[in-house]
Amino acid sequence: MGVALFTLGGTIAMAGHGPAKDGGTVVARLSGADLTAAVPGLAGLGVPLEVQDIEAVPSAQLSFARILDLVERASRAVRDGACGVVVTQGTDTLEETAFLADLLWPHDEPFVMTGAMRNPTMAGPDGPANLLAAAHVAAAPQARGLGALVVLNDEVHAARWVRKTHSASTRAFASPNAGPIGYVYEGRVGVHGGVPRRKAIEVDAAALAETRVGLHTVVLDDDPSMVNADGCDGFVVAGFGVGHVPASFAPVLGELAQRMPVVLTSRTGAGPVLRSTYGAVGSETDLQRRGLINGGMLDPWKARVLLRVLLASGADRDAVAEAFAG
Ligand code: ASP
Repeated sequence: MGVALFTLGGTIAMAGHGPAKDGGTVVARLSGADLTAAVPGLAGLGVPLEVQDIEAVPSAQLSFARILDLVERASRAVRDGACGVVVTQGTDTLEETAFLADLLWPHDEPFVMTGAMRNPTMAGPDGPANLLAAAHVAAAPQARGLGALVVLNDEVHAARWVRKTHSASTRAFASPNAGPIGYVYEGRVGVHGGVPRRKAIEVDAAALAETRVGLHTVVLDDDPSMVNADGCDGFVVAGFGVGHVPASFAPVLGELAQRMPVVLTSRTGAGPVLRSTYGAVGSETDLQRRGLINGGMLDPWKARVLLRVLLASGADRDAVAEAFAG
């Protein structure tokens, strides 16, 4: 039994165009074979890595359709005997793709995603170490049943909580609400935390492609006419603090919530949307009374992923509210 490795590009797979071109910038073009060849100590893993190159793109180019396809390929690999899965991709959208994969992944085998902050042409690239750590986690029995995981900088993060919190540091990934749930040292994987798992959601690719979820982040002195939900099936609001918006937004969002599920989240990056503390117009109690769904501890981007998957799977408003409450 081996670990199935899928590659999707990103900084971990970037190399130069050539010295004369673009002043030495890098683009995603390395294959899985290139990536594994750069990892010292891979033989110590004890199981083979079976590579499938999918595409080599910056992660801004990834899509829900690509991740759905990736989960299907990874499922096939597991059914064919892989003990776990590693995916390499760009770090920019990793917090969203990992959460999407987590919602769809139906197996106990670990689904581990990783990337790099320093490309292979730089001094001290972190890709090889991250790939090795991710492979150890994918092969670790103690990582089974935890869904999709993100491994960088020797830390194991649950897809549900992980966020990219720095644009450039090799310590960019953190789980502000929960902390890492494990570590990898000397090739040993320690898991000290669990993560609540939902039943995998089954979703059809065509339905997912057609489902649109909008997002508005409120800002100081915001104007409710900036809320644009045209063509949307659902909407996420990234509110201030514990879930607040300017009073002028309250009737607009309340009216929108009569037409589609509207999920209220916090733009702060950690902590919950409260349920029963503040009473002003535009507060969490006012918005819930107007029909907005409390997004709980999910940040706006993850809430948007969950809402799109739920709506594409045919969930009605009550089912959406129940999923966000869980
Ligand atoms: N821009 C890159 C990407 O997400 C950054 C990275 O891989 O770290 O593809």
